[in-house]
Amino acid sequence: MFAVCTLCADMDKKKLLQDVRQYRYAHEHEILKEFFDLLTIPNVSSDAENVRKNALFIRKMMEKRGINVRILETEGNPVIYGERMSSDSRQTLMFYIHYDGQPVDPSKWTDSSPFTPVLRPGKLRAGSSEPKPMPLPGAGEPIDEDWRIYARAASDDKAPISALLTALDALDRSGREVKNNLKFIFEGEEEAGSTHLLSCLKKHKDYLDADILFMCDGPVYFTGDPTLFFGVRGITSIQITVYGPNTSLHSGHFGNWAPNPANNLARLLASMKENSGRVTVKGFYDTVVPLSELEKEAIHNIPKCEEDLKKLYGFSGTEGSGKTYQETLQLPSLNINGINSGWVGDQARTIIPHQAVASLDIRLVKGNDPDDMVQKVIAHVKNQGYHLCDGEPDQKTRMAFPLLARVEVRENGYRASRTSMDLPICRRVIDSFSGYFEKNPLLLPTLGGSLPIYMFSDTLNIPIIGLPIVNHDNNQHQPDENLRIGHLWQGMETFAAIIMMEDR
Ligand SMILES: [Zn+2]
Repeated sequence: MFAVCTLCADMDKKKLLQDVRQYRYAHEHEILKEFFDLLTIPNVSSDAENVRKNALFIRKMMEKRGINVRILETEGNPVIYGERMSSDSRQTLMFYIHYDGQPVDPSKWTDSSPFTPVLRPGKLRAGSSEPKPMPLPGAGEPIDEDWRIYARAASDDKAPISALLTALDALDRSGREVKNNLKFIFEGEEEAGSTHLLSCLKKHKDYLDADILFMCDGPVYFTGDPTLFFGVRGITSIQITVYGPNTSLHSGHFGNWAPNPANNLARLLASMKENSGRVTVKGFYDTVVPLSELEKEAIHNIPKCEEDLKKLYGFSGTEGSGKTYQETLQLPSLNINGINSGWVGDQARTIIPHQAVASLDIRLVKGNDPDDMVQKVIAHVKNQGYHLCDGEPDQKTRMAFPLLARVEVRENGYRASRTSMDLPICRRVIDSFSGYFEKNPLLLPTLGGSLPIYMFSDTLNIPIIGLPIVNHDNNQHQPDENLRIGHLWQGMETFAAIIMMEDR
């Protein structure tokens, strides 16, 4: 009996996928035309006037799909909020997307036109302007999945807006009833640090409830397959300054006798990590919340990409004592961003520098508190015999302590987030994909990067799942940002599966 039901469900899903595809085949031109119009409105976060034009355009796009829209004003760019409630009133799915984009320098773009979308029959070849742009084919003409659209925000993050709303079109047109309530939060200043998002969420908290929130941003996994991520790492960053003599000294007159801060800083940093990459700061791994069996299994099922990544980035040795790439992302990291002391190359001078500075970031995983992790590093510096100063040491301090350093927190960090894959709602999300695509989606317990998801989890107390759709080689935040059209289509299909997910 059970097997039969599973089979029926799988057939329903196949039919759903087929219907979405049929709709898309018949409307590719129309979908891309609307998307091009959206991409034509400049959306750099600091350009408030144009960002608002985007908001109004998106509002119309949403209203066309029967979504009730409210523009939520903030002290900065508006948040677009939308609702499409079902009479069945089943579970409520909420989607977060941002509609602003990164700044642009048109002179660095191959077509010098970040806000005039350009279609190319393939990916731009490195260092060339080939393949050449082509016009958007007319209605009914074929469009290849490997063609790409070049424009700012083509991937980050307007693609999900198009994919999500056209998925609704496909479902409505197929005569399906959408039984889940849908809510939409489209932010207009994510690329400027989401300064007003938290206060906006708090202000409108009353109606921002949902069973699950999908963060639709970022690229799918390297393999290009549909991907769900359940967490992101947090981050905090520090700067360490090691002091030497109160002025740079001649290396001939003083080498072998005066202390060299560059040497001391190198030793101090080296003391924080074993050659294998394991961090030796006391307690660094103590607060890590272990992965569940399901999460471990998910990691095990992610295709191995280590050899490709090594080739791509040109190195053979890795940290992590044989752990896979994914396994290493499940732990906090201590990373040197840069080191500065004296001068090098043509500028090198035969001196003993007066100080040496290193900037570091600590990526955090679930369980790590940013302040606590910084305190652990500070304790380590002290344990290495350093006296810590609040600022430039005065003469008295210099005479009292042979090893002097200063540790500054560069910016306030934030915690990691990770939704448990074991929650019933997460199981249902995962189930909505099984038997839908050829392959099941890749499930990533956490992304390596950081996003301030805590703003949502702390304020709204809703489980959060990351639902990226765009190609990983999209030049996000850079010139020649692009979207592979096949990923827009796959995104539509992904959203359709989610929107139709069962409530039990
Ligand atoms: Zn983004």
